[in-house]
Amino acid sequence: MDTVPPGLGRLKNKAALVTGASSGIGRATALRFAAEGARLVINDVDAVRLETLRLAIAGAGGEVRSVVGDVSKTEDARAMVAAAVEAFGRLDVLVANAGIIPEMDLATATADDFDHVMAIDGRGMFLSCKFAVEAMLKTGGGSIVCLSSISGEAGQKRQAVYGPAKFVASGITKHLAVELAAQGVRVNAVAPGTIATDGLRKMSEEYIAGVTAAHPIGRVGQPAEVANAILFLASDEASFITGAILPVDGGYLAQ
Ligand code: NAP
Repeated sequence: MDTVPPGLGRLKNKAALVTGASSGIGRATALRFAAEGARLVINDVDAVRLETLRLAIAGAGGEVRSVVGDVSKTEDARAMVAAAVEAFGRLDVLVANAGIIPEMDLATATADDFDHVMAIDGRGMFLSCKFAVEAMLKTGGGSIVCLSSISGEAGQKRQAVYGPAKFVASGITKHLAVELAAQGVRVNAVAPGTIATDGLRKMSEEYIAGVTAAHPIGRVGQPAEVANAILFLASDEASFITGAILPVDGGYLAQ
């Protein structure tokens, strides 16, 4: 059940776009942002789940628009940013979250698998940032948080296609941070460890036991714990932070 948690107004009057918002980390982030006073555009490819979320946020008094679309398609990416500008006159925050997480090793992955993941997790993030920055520069700047991963910072087994795509997320974050710093746009990322989303719950008990043991803190994370870190980086509290990739991983990358 979607609920909007209590907030402190940390994004009051900010216009924010969250991609891939209907599920998992994106949904937790949209709910957290709504609670903190953001005016929201939520995007996803899944129209039904997106409408459920829109109703939950609007029902709690939040200002929210939804745009169904595929971030890897240029016109869809442009349209979700345009929706924020049309509704709120500006875009202050982008959370480039939409992504797919296939598990494949090199022997089984095909070139088409690689292209498909790169199209959504790589090209989709690039397009989301490109159009968001165009809008942000018209109103003096903004803040972007990209979803990288422990797989975008370190090598792992069975990540031959997803892992490289998440290195793209880390790369976009660092390069855009430097390119845009003087123009008032901060670009950061979170690098979550394994997070208990619907996808994880479908995995075998053996798989879940293995990933749990790989995190020094002794458990996997919750979507809301990632949303808290995204909120901090997105907000003005992180005003001197850009180009950072913040692990939210129970100590995984510290090993
Ligand atoms: P999720 O629960 O599957 O949510 C992702 C959402 O994005 C889904 O609603 C998905 O729709 C949507 N989506 C997929 N392709 C899209 C596209 N082309 N355009 C717009 N929306 C699209 O995933 P999650 O676990 O919350 O992951 C969110 C982000 O965190 C991803 O970038 C992922 O790489 C990153 N991350 C996740 C974990 C983890 O353990 N969960 C760890 C590290 C990083 P469908 O359901 O229809 O595909």
